[in-house]
Amino acid sequence: MWKLIFLAIIIWLAIYLIRQSLKSNQTPAPGNRSESGANHSNTENPEIENMVQCASCHIHLPRSEAFLVNGKFYCSKQHIRQDAS
Ligand SMILES: [Zn+2]
Repeated sequence: MWKLIFLAIIIWLAIYLIRQSLKSNQTPAPGNRSESGANHSNTENPEIENMVQCASCHIHLPRSEAFLVNGKFYCSKQHIRQDAS
């Protein structure tokens, strides 16, 4: 009689362990991968987008250093005067 109970406990334990291992396999890792990937691509783009071309000498320079006159970018005030004349 005790053998039967002992066997039942072992079988229940085996089923319990198999269920636990199946659960850990089915549930994927926390879904932070896509968010971190998007953040990574966002940090790379601004440097490329902020480069502008001078309308006079066609040199490339950061947008923060360029002069914007009548929708055109210039690298210096000299080139603004050259293009206007
Ligand atoms: Zn220029």
